[in-house]
Amino acid sequence: AKREGRNKYRLFADELSLKAQARRSLELDLRHALAHDQLSVYYQPQVDPRSSTFEGAEALVRWFHPERGSIAPIDFIAIAEEAGLIAKLGEFVLREACREAANWPEATRIAVNLSPIQLRDRQLPNIVRAILNQTGLPAERLELEVTESALLHDDGVTYSNLHTLQACGIRIALDDFGTGYSSLSYLRRFPFSKIKIDRSFVSQVPHDADSMAIVETVITLAHRLGMTVTAEGVETHAQLHFAALKDCQQAQGYLVGKPMDAEELRLQFLEEKQLKVGT
Ligand code: C2E
Ligand code: CA
Ligand code: CA
Ligand code: CA
Repeated sequence: AKREGRNKYRLFADELSLKAQARRSLELDLRHALAHDQLSVYYQPQVDPRSSTFEGAEALVRWFHPERGSIAPIDFIAIAEEAGLIAKLGEFVLREACREAANWPEATRIAVNLSPIQLRDRQLPNIVRAILNQTGLPAERLELEVTESALLHDDGVTYSNLHTLQACGIRIALDDFGTGYSSLSYLRRFPFSKIKIDRSFVSQVPHDADSMAIVETVITLAHRLGMTVTAEGVETHAQLHFAALKDCQQAQGYLVGKPMDAEELRLQFLEEKQLKVGT
């Protein structure tokens, strides 16, 4: 039994070091990818649920690894954060997305995700302003998405960055609402223009009465606070209709469109005059 225990331990240790090695090799590859333009930006459309009018898109980073194929953000964002690469990655996505959206119609917006680490950098407002200048995108057409986890242990820098960015005319959206450390005091303290209701609630519509009550109440709350609402993860017509019925301003999800490259987005959403969702 003793030996078995020891072997088990050895197995566990080997597994750990294998994991550490895999992680380390992914980190090296990511460094290389950043230096050699192997990352790209996909765009997921956001529409008005009533008219299906295209209102903008969320930029989502993609990594097509030459040997491993496509690697999901969930598998490399955390590595980028721990390895000190997220600032560079974030700037790349922001620049690319602003450059692309500068060619879209004036009434549209581009939403870009910010890591909590980027938000803690005092240089963030300067970096964002420089990119707006370089790409010619008006500040009003940029929306930055932040999650509640970025606000949790704020020492004041995130707070001041968000207020500075908002004062420039940039909009701030609270992402994944309802999942993290939701605290209603955030809604008062930080300058949000929009709440994005997390897919975990939206996906339960219309089967789960509690989720529907939560979605409906969050929409009412947001509107009372002068914010707009996006329903995330809309996959069915029933969910789209529910969003429209409850006066949700925007819908985003596979029903409307999966994340796609810039050219595909232009073809599907900007060149056609009439858009019919889910047909
Ligand atoms: P997120 O910001 O909540 O982005 C939405 C995610 O939900 C995307 O996954 C999108 O593909 C997926 N999604 C959208 N509609 C549907 C739907 O109808 N059904 C389902 N099942 N999924 C849907 P993705 O692209 O894999 O990104 C995952 C997460 O990685 C993002 O979640 C975000 O937290 C992070 N991420 C992606 N790009 C960036 C980036 O450029 N910077 C930072 N800091 N994080 C990023
Ligand atoms: Ca997001
Ligand atoms: Ca989200
Ligand atoms: Ca609208």
